[in-house]
Amino acid sequence: MIRCVYCYPQPDLIVHETQNLRVVVDPFPICVGHVLVLSKKHYGCIGELTINQIKELQDMADVLTQYTKEQFGHFISFEHGRAGICAATHGALCVHMHLHVLPAQIDIVKALADQYSPLKIKKLDNLPKQFHGFGEYIFYHNQHDRFCFLLNSKPIPPHYLRTLITHARGEPHLSNWEQYQAPEIVNRNMQYKTQLKSYLEAHIPR
Ligand SMILES: [Zn+2]
Ligand SMILES: [Zn+2]
Repeated sequence: MIRCVYCYPQPDLIVHETQNLRVVVDPFPICVGHVLVLSKKHYGCIGELTINQIKELQDMADVLTQYTKEQFGHFISFEHGRAGICAATHGALCVHMHLHVLPAQIDIVKALADQYSPLKIKKLDNLPKQFHGFGEYIFYHNQHDRFCFLLNSKPIPPHYLRTLITHARGEPHLSNWEQYQAPEIVNRNMQYKTQLKSYLEAHIPR
């Protein structure tokens, strides 16, 4: 039996918790400031959450993206949900909802739109409708817009979003988290965790 690492995150990675959510620092960060929002219960993607859970997630995402922008000048946020497999599983076929937030001054909308049909959405609460109607999707939020890219049964390759992002940042060696070698980013991200923790405690009630 494989234990899902997002159901049972390493305690030292946890930044903050609310009723249904946990914020953790990414165990294999692309850069300092790379965090994840996980559901406490095992859901496959944001599209499977209830309306109340999504509202809680939207509030958390708003605070995290705003803080990331204040600290670093820019942010992106994305979810590959059921479409992609991340560190949750160590290769097993299992997915756990997690929203990535990180500082990055890149634009990968065009690259995504070359492969998948983009749909602009206003808020995360649009995702259940897309998921239940059309299946797997990629959610991507840049400084200007939120997009839902419908996959239309076209599977995404392993490390797809991470590869697009790390290449756009000029750091292709960070594209495969399974061969991650950047302990200095992990260390600095743990320092960032302390600062983010105080901020979230002050701005988001537990
Ligand atoms: Zn899980
Ligand atoms: Zn991921």
